[in-house]
Amino acid sequence: MKTAVYPGSFDPVTNGHLDIVARAARIFDRLIVAVYDTPSKRLLFSTERRVEMIRIAIASLPNVEVQSFSSLTVEYAQQVGARTIVRGLRAISDFELELQMAHMNRKLDPEVQVICMMTSLQYSFLSSSIVKEIAGLSGCVDGLVPPHVAEALQEAYRGAVDPFRK
Ligand code: ADP
Repeated sequence: MKTAVYPGSFDPVTNGHLDIVARAARIFDRLIVAVYDTPSKRLLFSTERRVEMIRIAIASLPNVEVQSFSSLTVEYAQQVGARTIVRGLRAISDFELELQMAHMNRKLDPEVQVICMMTSLQYSFLSSSIVKEIAGLSGCVDGLVPPHVAEALQEAYRGAVDPFRK
């Protein structure tokens, strides 16, 4: 059984992330979307909500699951029995950081392989940050994120009731 981990902040998950998830799910037997608990970035959504938004989005993919983690990615991968870390590449600008992280991850654990998948062209301009910027200015994010994420963004910026709050 080949297990891979797709780690990231996913603040929030976009259709670009989900495209990588769907394609990686066809390569691996089991794919774990791993939500980094405390990235150095400032977050809009809590870990629970980032996880929940992904869980809804991946409901139709039986071999994909979502978890949160707070350790080193290679340690987390080891814990869940994954030997592969999947990352997405949009542009040359992503490459430098991904290369640095891949080398560092290999230094930390030579057994773990990092696989970078090229974004689909229609998502190559898409990032969680730009989606937040658009939503923050009341712009339309349809087609960039799933409908439940668009709704959560609207609510977050409206400061209204949180649709994911239990
Ligand atoms: P991180 O904070 O680790 O960069 P992100 O949530 O921003 O996490 O992204 C997670 C992974 O998904 C990264 O490898 C990133 O390059 C990739 N990614 C982000 N947006 C896209 C997209 N539109 N198409 C393909 N890959 C993407």
